[in-house]
Amino acid sequence: LMEEGVMTNINAVMDPELTELVAGDLGVDIDFVQAETLEDKLLTAMDELEDDEASLKPRAPVVTFLGHVDHGKTSLIDKLIGIDVASGEDGGITQHIRAYQIENDGRPISFVDTPGHEAFTEMRARGAGVTDIVVLVVAADDGVMPQTEEAISHAKAADVPIIVALNKIDLPGVDPTRALQDLAANDLLPSEWGGEVEVVKTSATTGEGLEELLETILTVAELNEFKANPDRPAIGSCLESQQDADKGVVTKVLVQKGTLRVGDTVVCGEAYGKVKAMTDPLRPSRRLLEAGPSVPVNLTGLNRAPSAGEPLYVIDDIAAAREIADTRAHAERAEFLGSTGFQAATLENLFD
Ligand code: GDP
Ligand code: MG
Repeated sequence: LMEEGVMTNINAVMDPELTELVAGDLGVDIDFVQAETLEDKLLTAMDELEDDEASLKPRAPVVTFLGHVDHGKTSLIDKLIGIDVASGEDGGITQHIRAYQIENDGRPISFVDTPGHEAFTEMRARGAGVTDIVVLVVAADDGVMPQTEEAISHAKAADVPIIVALNKIDLPGVDPTRALQDLAANDLLPSEWGGEVEVVKTSATTGEGLEELLETILTVAELNEFKANPDRPAIGSCLESQQDADKGVVTKVLVQKGTLRVGDTVVCGEAYGKVKAMTDPLRPSRRLLEAGPSVPVNLTGLNRAPSAGEPLYVIDDIAAAREIADTRAHAERAEFLGSTGFQAATLENLFD
């Protein structure tokens, strides 16, 4: 290595080309083994596990509220589910991704609220990624703004139906024409103008239009017949995760297929563990023993906080789950060391 001008130590990670070069010098054959072999085997099998038509059962639509900051996403969801989060928020800005399931006339609906602040682009993209329907919230007095446009492109990328809530319609003297024009200019021609996009005029303050918004959501859901197989090992998506002083790592997961149960062994990104407890995000004191497709839960039991957006898989083999998670964590660390130039220290750059 020193002949190659590489300063290194026994803990450093060597890149493949260098390894081959040195091996060649020593006349040794190298066989590269993919570290993800186990992961590939298990997770690909999970992804490809076919759910035949007969196994599919109706599931709740996952409805994500997207739009510019302060246009009323949190207030609308609060009003729809009958709680009040918006007025208790720090500076009135949603910092977390929220996910709740409610039942309307016996029909469940899952709502996902996303932060509107520009720092949270990533979280909105994630919200759009797990969703079946996007409710695009546009304040009637403000029209389409930068994060509205961003939300439109997320929704289009996710290829899901968009319903527009033209909110704050209660404001005195508000003229929705401009907002409608903005929407049309963004390829969302309102149905009242002959287009295909349902625009519901709402007010989270007075409650106007909320019944109609709910009806529109349910109609779109019925047309699409969202289904999943509840009888298989669960696959979900991590919406966010953090370390809690009392409970350890708390992870908000939206189950997408199968049924997740307390006691299941899961792997999620670089984290793994046995699900210790699950609670209903809407009623945190309510413990859940299982959660089927479209159900959001807060769960404990993971060894570290996975990154948001990571898929969660049930793997009933704790050793395999640990190996997959640790291999990923190790690869991440190697990449980090590489990016800091640690492994790539050469005589030249060392003495620069
Ligand atoms: P978000 O950032 O999109 O989640 O917006 P919020 O729900 O936090 O609402 C931002 C502000 O607009 C708050 O002060 C709300 O009280 C207010 N607001 C939300 N919806 C309405 C509405 O329909 N009418 C009026 N007048 N104000 C609203
Ligand atoms: Mg909000």
